[in-house]
Amino acid sequence: MSSELRELYQEVILDHSKRPRNFHALPDANRKAEGYNPLCGDRETVYLELEGDVVKDVAFEGAGCAISTASASMMTESVKGKTRAEADALFERFHGLITGVLPQAPGLPALGKLEVFSGVREFPIRVKCATLPWHTLKAALQGGASVVSTESEGPAAESGGA
Ligand code: ZN
Repeated sequence: MSSELRELYQEVILDHSKRPRNFHALPDANRKAEGYNPLCGDRETVYLELEGDVVKDVAFEGAGCAISTASASMMTESVKGKTRAEADALFERFHGLITGVLPQAPGLPALGKLEVFSGVREFPIRVKCATLPWHTLKAALQGGASVVSTESEGPAAESGGA
């Protein structure tokens, strides 16, 4: 990577860490998950408004280092409007980028501006900061029972004990 490109990437990350996008709670969220990275102390809550299989809206709140905040900010921009499968594929690709093990499977989506995190692979301790919002997103996509769920999966749970 050229030093100019590296500087540009750092500027983008800095910008997103100082002025994170979609940094608020989501009143209409029907999914929510909390993530914590004890190695660094990053805490993030990801809110999702899932409509069918599509991420209609996504936002986050929390406190963390520049990398985790910028990563969450850019993640929300990247997955908005995508399907669950597309978001999963993007995470797979992103994870490959920052761990240096790029999956070569055809059909994986282009990372676009998420490429700015490619420098993170030189700082292994920061990998978890960059992936925290994505893991949290995944948890929200999979479960998210901590808030309201508009979907009823499986048999309805019976309240009350035996
Ligand atoms: Zn961190």
